[in-house]
Amino acid sequence: MQKLLIVGGGFAGVWAALVAARETIHQGRELQIQLVSKDPYLTMRPRLYEPDPEGLRAPLKPTLEPVGVDLLVASAERIDPIAKTVDVVTEEGARSLTYDRLILASGSHLAAPSVPGLAEHGWSIDDYEASVAFDRHLRALAAMPAAADRDSFVVLGAGFTGIELALELRRRIEIHSDAARARKASIFLVDREKVVGASLGDNPRPVIEAALAEADVELRLGASVTSVGKGRVSFGTGESIDTFSVISTVGLTASPLTGQLPLERDETGRLTTDPMLRVQGIDSVYAAGDVARAYVDDENLALMSCQHAIFMGQMAGFNAAHDILDLPLRPYRQPFYQTCLDLGRSGAVYTTGWEREVQKRGEEAKKLKRFINSELIYPPANDRAAILAAADIDAREDNRTAAAS
Ligand SMILES: Cc1cc2nc3c(=O)[nH]c(=O)nc-3n(C[C@H](O)[C@H](O)[C@H](O)COP(=O)(O)OP(=O)(O)OC[C@H]3O[C@@H](n4cnc5c(N)ncnc54)[C@H](O)[C@@H]3O)c2cc1C
Repeated sequence: MQKLLIVGGGFAGVWAALVAARETIHQGRELQIQLVSKDPYLTMRPRLYEPDPEGLRAPLKPTLEPVGVDLLVASAERIDPIAKTVDVVTEEGARSLTYDRLILASGSHLAAPSVPGLAEHGWSIDDYEASVAFDRHLRALAAMPAAADRDSFVVLGAGFTGIELALELRRRIEIHSDAARARKASIFLVDREKVVGASLGDNPRPVIEAALAEADVELRLGASVTSVGKGRVSFGTGESIDTFSVISTVGLTASPLTGQLPLERDETGRLTTDPMLRVQGIDSVYAAGDVARAYVDDENLALMSCQHAIFMGQMAGFNAAHDILDLPLRPYRQPFYQTCLDLGRSGAVYTTGWEREVQKRGEEAKKLKRFINSELIYPPANDRAAILAAADIDAREDNRTAAAS
């Protein structure tokens, strides 16, 4: 039997597997689909700024097993696109897996920080382990005696993740200690850029700035961190802040597995794909999610984002399965773009389009954010019919639009 191998159990990999399985079943054909991932969970990365990160992952088996996808918990170490093999390491030892088509969906991570001391003394919320470690740190701080270094929190990067974390921190401190301590804490948001949310453009900025002011978050803009020590962060301006809590949210880069293919990568390590999401230059390998440099329309590239990873995964799964089954492929198009940024106690801000025009704010936008974070990004589980229905890409609004254009 021919085999589709998927590396990565994040949003792109899971949806690639589900759509490939649905297409195979729908066509009445046979195809072995195997998904390799480092752990047996789908980590809800977009939620990792929230309290209780231990509850922010969903087991993969109840989603994959009902539609016949084989899950192998292993770390992929080496890809050989000529022999069409991927070498993996499981708990039992090393193995080599073969494939007819491969979908690379191994995501992204924060690059090793170049600031002296940040790797040793800094924190992050980039993945499950880092987020759990940071939450335990918050709990440990609560048991310490009052001091400036205990009660100051410095978030590096005033982009999407940094803003959400800075605005959630008082709630998280309160959960681990009490309201008075949360109110008194000093929270700093630092960025090299002269404005907050530079990558989000001008439109949502007034709403974001108002939320940061309301939450009493102190801004250090146009600022660069020169060193992080145990209990202190120093800036190029000469300023320093006593703190045990420097949390970095900057420097996202694609999975190092992209470097296994003998191809050029962009500045964030992503592989260029053709419109079918095949890696340009290697027809048997597809890429989806944060590892893929793909156009969503005639002008804009997909971002390292959940909304793009999910649909790219779906289209890569559709195309890789169709490719093996000798059925027509479809170009990936995702013209509709939206953002929904959590603003803590000020609600949220929801925008549409690449100019990010504000459509909703406050509690109205927060309701949408809650729906996205607690329902929309969770694939169905333990229900074969629901999983197959969700994996029918013709039911997607985006896809009907793309097919018509
Ligand atoms: C704190 C935070 C907040 C965010 N907020 C938002 C948001 O509000 N909206 C939004 O759209 N996006 C948001 N994002 C971005 C979004 O989470 C990512 O773009 C998305 O998770 C990418 O999906 P992916 O499947 O490509 O990769 P990932 O979700 O990173 O999944 C990659 C998978 O591959 C596995 N893997 C990696 N290497 C290997 C290997 N060698 N062998 C086997 N398995 C491997 C990993 O274990 C993981 O399961 C946020 C990210 C963070 C960290």
